[in-house]
Amino acid sequence: MSQKGLLIVVSGPAGSGKGTVLKHVLKNEDFKYSVSATTRAPRPGEINGVNYHFITREDFLDRIASGMMLEHTEYCGNYYGTPLKEAEEVLASGKHLILELEMEGAMNVKRMYPDAVLILLIPPNYATQEARLRGRATETEDKILARLAKAREEIQLAGEYDYVIYNRDFGDKEAAADMFAIVRAEISSTKRNPKIIENYLAEGKDE
Ligand code: 5GP
Repeated sequence: MSQKGLLIVVSGPAGSGKGTVLKHVLKNEDFKYSVSATTRAPRPGEINGVNYHFITREDFLDRIASGMMLEHTEYCGNYYGTPLKEAEEVLASGKHLILELEMEGAMNVKRMYPDAVLILLIPPNYATQEARLRGRATETEDKILARLAKAREEIQLAGEYDYVIYNRDFGDKEAAADMFAIVRAEISSTKRNPKIIENYLAEGKDE
């Protein structure tokens, strides 16, 4: 995959408030959100093609078979996957691409693309997470419990991420600012600037 923009993976367990934080980040035109395909039913207010591409199981399996997914996973009984072509186009254009993935998916992307920047957004603690999830009230008790259990299991992978951001109550703008700061730091990292010396010695040729 040819890449000019940064491949950014954001994970946040249910109740981490990542939707609100990403809304702030995506107001910046240097960033693009990767719209995943899923077999999950839309939640109230979700729009096909904006939040997800809502597709059938059959269609999803076809897309995997024909190599159209950058990665995919089965999560809480549904399939989710990142469309490859869209990701390639955004990165080649120089924009930073945000993939919002569950934690196993994030690990897979890191294995395939070691240059990816992995950011974990989490609630300040478990009690806050539970309260936020119940406040959403769009899901049955069974589903809420399954998501909380999954979150507790997933958090074990926290140490594999490059960065962690705690999303405190009413702290979503601060969390978005942290994300911008991370991206700026990554762009300036020496590992992403392998030609520092050549550029220095070529002084005068460029500018
Ligand atoms: P939800 O059903 O709450 O929208 O998403 C469930 C989980 O799947 C979330 O952690 C979300 O970040 C993750 N997810 C959404 N799209 C993708 C995808 O394309 N690939 C992977 N691996 N996970 C995804």
